[in-house]
Amino acid sequence: MRVAVVGSGPAGFYATDDLLAAGAQVDLLERLPTPWGLVRLGVAPDHPELKSASRVFEKTAAKEGFRFFGNVEVGRDVTHAELTRLYDAVVYTVGAQTDRRLGIPGEDLPGSWAATEFVAWYNGHPDHQHLEFDLSDPRAAVVGNGNVAIDVARILARTEAELAPTDITERSSAAIVASTIGEIVMLGRRGPAQAAFTPPELKELGELGGADVIVDPAELELDPASAAALEADRARARRNVDILRDFAARTPAGKRKRLVLRFLVSPVRIVGEEKVEAVEIVRNRLVLGDDGRIRAVPTDTFETIPCGLVLRSVGYQGVALPGLPFDESRGVIPNDRGRVAGLPRVYCAGWIKRGPSGVIGTNKKDAAETVEALIADAEAGALACEGGELGALLRERGVEFVDYAGWEAIDAHERALGEAAGRPRVKLTSRDELLAQARALESRQ
Ligand code: NAP
Repeated sequence: MRVAVVGSGPAGFYATDDLLAAGAQVDLLERLPTPWGLVRLGVAPDHPELKSASRVFEKTAAKEGFRFFGNVEVGRDVTHAELTRLYDAVVYTVGAQTDRRLGIPGEDLPGSWAATEFVAWYNGHPDHQHLEFDLSDPRAAVVGNGNVAIDVARILARTEAELAPTDITERSSAAIVASTIGEIVMLGRRGPAQAAFTPPELKELGELGGADVIVDPAELELDPASAAALEADRARARRNVDILRDFAARTPAGKRKRLVLRFLVSPVRIVGEEKVEAVEIVRNRLVLGDDGRIRAVPTDTFETIPCGLVLRSVGYQGVALPGLPFDESRGVIPNDRGRVAGLPRVYCAGWIKRGPSGVIGTNKKDAAETVEALIADAEAGALACEGGELGALLRERGVEFVDYAGWEAIDAHERALGEAAGRPRVKLTSRDELLAQARALESRQ
């Protein structure tokens, strides 16, 4: 059985591993010259323990039957229809490639960015290195209360010494260190008991070398529905509230930066003539809906927070793929336990299957469910293909793809640069540099 897996992030690697274990040959396709998806380009550089997931991926790649095709984009270099002819089955694990919008006036003013763009920039994503972030205003606002919001707020608050031993790009590290931002304000639309971030990530904000964390105790007061929900369970929410109460009780130490966590406020307008000058927020109250969900409802109390940078961090959003069905409202490929609706022999896993939630490990179970469905279909005799060779097709088209040895050459080069600089790696940040490094290997062979 020959299977193409499209997208080499965690879901792609976990699916690949399960498929290899079932005896399949797997070609893992990736749009970028480098594998690992958000483990390389999303996980914060100061969280090396999360990046260690890549060691599991390396073990998968060393297994019999695995091949990597980096720098190959489905829809540009090879079509979905061609893949279904070449392979018995195709599994899409492409993640959620864009950001959710706030839908408020001023959202597109210069200085208002999707947090995902900032993340991609500081992590060395080749498609985002041309971005210019103006970090010269005294204040930045981060909209959202998830772990990505925490990541970008924390990275903005980091000191030179804290960034030095990470694999953040040198350019972004220098810009953050030189920035004159003295206050970072995180804006949560609901209360502390509804925050999406997780306790270890929240706790870390209280341990920053160069920033005091500031919480107004008045914004931690729980409405009856939140208090009841907290009583009922929610270990995560309870721990978050405890940590926030500890933050609120602290006396600021007078560090260079302040990281202010606000709750029950929503941006209604980003204000500015030619660029962001402020964000206007409305105070919310919480209402328990019939569905049991606690919602934020605006009051008539408004406030304006002057700031020159807004990072909108309200979740990722999946993008439709040519030739595949798409559920616009949820941003996912409609599927039944990973079987793509209406398309035999086509499957999906990860964020494009279930939406952008969960941690890296969540994708393991998710991918296992998809592969189980695929294997069941194989056993039922439902999989078949015309045959052919992807490598030959790409060469015929002049597509320069990076195989696994090519990636290993890039990896070794980056690690060697890192060793000299006291960092885990120094990333190559342009496609040209990455391809040249992979090519250098071919000429040595
Ligand atoms: P997320 O966890 O879904 O959080 C999105 C946040 O945006 C929520 O607080 C949400 O509030 C808020 N929001 C949504 N629409 C809004 C609006 N119109 N106005 C104001 N706020 C709005 O998404 P994420 O932070 O992008 O993270 C994605 C996934 O990656 C999560 O599962 C996360 O845990 C994971 N992740 C993990 C780590 C880590 O483990 N260290 C790091 C980064 C990301 P409501 O709750 O009110 O909707």
